[in-house]
Amino acid sequence: MNNERLNNLQGNIIDGSGRKIFFGKLSIENGKITDISEISSERHECSDYIAPGFIDIHSHGDHFLLIDPSAASKIQQGVTTDVIGNCGYSAAPINSNMRERRGRGLERFKLKPNWESFGDYLQRLEEAQPAVNVCALVGHGTLRTYAGIPETRAATPKDRLSILHAVKKALEEGAFGLSTGTFYVPGSSADKLELLDSLTPVSDMKRLYAAHIRNESDFVVESLYEAIDIARIVKVKFQYSHIKAWGYQNWNKANKILELIKNGIESGIDISTDLYPYDSAATELISGMGVQNIKSIDEIKNHIQELLSKDPYWNHRIRILSSKVENFRGKRLFNLKNPAEEIARILEADPHTSAAFEELSYKNIDKFISQHITAIGSDSSNRNIVGPLSEDFSHPRAFGTFPRFISKYTGEGKLLSLEEGIRRVTSLPAERLGLTDRGLIKIGMSADLVIFDPSKIKDKATFQYPKKFPIGIKEVWVNGKVAVQNGIINEVRNGKVLRA
Ligand SMILES: [Zn+2]
Ligand SMILES: [Zn+2]
Repeated sequence: MNNERLNNLQGNIIDGSGRKIFFGKLSIENGKITDISEISSERHECSDYIAPGFIDIHSHGDHFLLIDPSAASKIQQGVTTDVIGNCGYSAAPINSNMRERRGRGLERFKLKPNWESFGDYLQRLEEAQPAVNVCALVGHGTLRTYAGIPETRAATPKDRLSILHAVKKALEEGAFGLSTGTFYVPGSSADKLELLDSLTPVSDMKRLYAAHIRNESDFVVESLYEAIDIARIVKVKFQYSHIKAWGYQNWNKANKILELIKNGIESGIDISTDLYPYDSAATELISGMGVQNIKSIDEIKNHIQELLSKDPYWNHRIRILSSKVENFRGKRLFNLKNPAEEIARILEADPHTSAAFEELSYKNIDKFISQHITAIGSDSSNRNIVGPLSEDFSHPRAFGTFPRFISKYTGEGKLLSLEEGIRRVTSLPAERLGLTDRGLIKIGMSADLVIFDPSKIKDKATFQYPKKFPIGIKEVWVNGKVAVQNGIINEVRNGKVLRA
């Protein structure tokens, strides 16, 4: 990259603040934007649009960034900062018991989780030299296991103190906030007192509380109420993760959800949210069925029978993603002759089988995206089309979220202007995380940039072909270096592991 190029990055500039697009030129030096000259206040006939790098506010690359730091599926979408440690689960801190258990799950990727503290983990991540910048949250579920609290009960006052200290330590070591996952074991055993105590240091240090709420389907309203109430009591910045109303019987609750948020904001609570623009959710098959722990295979069969008796088409909306049972990967479950028997068999062979559930409504997604507080998060870890992270079947959101959001929801005649759409994936998440040097095209900011053509940008990943990189992105810059050029990844890996 010669100096001339660095001083002559020209195009229609979308600065990330929501301000109207202008035509101009950027200078970049030592990884920072050093000059911006506005040539015209109107956009030009030019297919190069320059935006700040996208921030994926909801990601799960905690282990995958170590396995494949090229972060191919992210960087190809224009994601330059990945926010990991969501839904109550983080890679650290871990003790020897956890290390052994997690190590077994990671064996096939040859990853040994040989760190302990949150700081150790961040250092390990730094040594791996990820292609994207990383902000890590610490997971409440991980912390309560680390503190030795049995997953079957809420924390005692003594336990609560242990979690509080562990949260504080992780925040001091650089965590951007605490994520909770009260839907999942072990977070589901936490009561309000436990959550309040866990969040006290988060509030004191002005970090972020990101919640996968207790229930996103039949009790979504009650669960959101709980999370907002916690944010109100502790006075903490709240990120309502992957906003949704799961299940068609709950689709009419979107307005109620938005009303709770609006009332919360009006009463002074700092709330924002995020989503992935797809009508299918994805999680472990077992959790998606509303079961927390597999006690016996008969119990699972009975549960499936019950689901099917309430809704005979229940299994028509499920597609297996990754599973040790290879012949089911990527398959929809609608033509199983004996669904209860066969689904139970898949789970018996691999209890961690994951699946996509076509349970969301695009109308609601429109309603949620229309809110100025809604950011975009892929809810995916990084994947690749080659190497160890290419083997599993994934939700298309892993490769397509950001280009899909821009092409489907922004521009003339769409839900949002291009300027507003870009704000949702740049300065909005940066503000939530407290990042002061990213998310905007402004002098002094880090040169994380995406150069794309809004008329061409598009996701290509589908459920049938989930491992397809998007099109329409010309260049992606991370800290002043070109990471992707015309669809080809440069091996520069110039991301930084950020610390709050
Ligand atoms: Zn979640
Ligand atoms: Zn998640």
